[in-house]
Amino acid sequence: MIDFNRPPFVGKELDYIKEAIENGKLCGDGAFTKKCSEWMQEKFDVRHTFLTTSCTHALEMAAYLCDLEPGDEVIMPSYTFVSTADAFVLRGAKIVFTDIRPDTMNIDEKKIEAAITDRTRVIVPVHYAGVACEMDEIMDIARRHGLKVVEDAAQGVNAFYKGKALGTIGDFGCYSFHETKNYTMGEGGALVFNDDSLQEKAEILREKGTNRSKFFRGQIDKYTWVNYGSSYLPSEMNAAYLYAQLEEAEKIDRKRHEIYDYYNEALRPLAEAGLIGQPFVPDGAKHNAHMYYIKVKDLETRTDLISYMREKGVCCVFHYIPLHTAAAGRRFGRFFGGDEYTTKESERIVRLPMFYNLDMKDVAYTAKCLLEYKGY
Ligand SMILES: *Cc1c(COP(=O)(O)O)cnc(C)c1O
Repeated sequence: MIDFNRPPFVGKELDYIKEAIENGKLCGDGAFTKKCSEWMQEKFDVRHTFLTTSCTHALEMAAYLCDLEPGDEVIMPSYTFVSTADAFVLRGAKIVFTDIRPDTMNIDEKKIEAAITDRTRVIVPVHYAGVACEMDEIMDIARRHGLKVVEDAAQGVNAFYKGKALGTIGDFGCYSFHETKNYTMGEGGALVFNDDSLQEKAEILREKGTNRSKFFRGQIDKYTWVNYGSSYLPSEMNAAYLYAQLEEAEKIDRKRHEIYDYYNEALRPLAEAGLIGQPFVPDGAKHNAHMYYIKVKDLETRTDLISYMREKGVCCVFHYIPLHTAAAGRRFGRFFGGDEYTTKESERIVRLPMFYNLDMKDVAYTAKCLLEYKGY
């Protein structure tokens, strides 16, 4: 069976984990966490980076740092992972879902402004498949209405918009290092931002509401409980795994693009015959080959294609059930405007196997099976 995903392994992970253990400090914010943070600061040109236990937790931190009051509204696409919404639900916010663009599956920047009310506080663009949302327009809307922007860049690590790293354009950016993402530590993520005035507040939030980070820097004699907080630090063993991946980020990126380009070329005849849709990358977006998907005619075709591929020994998957149609989505949010594309387009998506250690022979076989399928 050709798996849909396997966690990437580049080579030095075990050496670094051993080193972390020998360093005698397994809890968070040790040498490897520092290396990962500095790598991101430099590579993505961002001032503050906090490694976290997940992107969900990075989103929770961002939501908290937005200073929301219960009943405040947050605008986001309905076509996203549940965590995008959960983080804001935890703050008592109301989720206002808006429609996506059918070409990128990203939030439609032209449908945001109409959804703004006097309770709106935040816009959350999700960079689907590592393809940038139209950030110039989104930032312009946010600035004109005094709103914060939290980028869900879980899939957008090491992808760019007009030369800027995704996650560094809005007020906050949230990354995922889950095993299904381009670079991983098993479970993990990061919060990034540029505003110096938020550094201490973020440190306190991440360190159980204490000023322990300041204490470790020798800026105070003892640390104490100063505010609400939680525990968002990953262990050094996880950070060690991640650092091995970040060091080889280019190699991982190159391999993923090789897979992406192969699928894209091989399947073009199907697209040209009008049988499938292929991913679209707008000008100005430099994607990271996080995902390769095709779009088939409808839900029925998708179900049939996925089971056909399974018979051929290839695991293909779909996602997301639009959040506004889920029980929790109905309770915590509402959809603003018409659902022109969210439901319809989400039912057409088929994701193909894509991971660093995937053999190119398996990529070719997957494409061949798709070319042979007769049910489009
Ligand atoms: C993966 C993902 C998340 C959650 O990431 P975790 O690190 O698993 O918490 C959030 N949003 C999107 C869009 C994702 O793809």
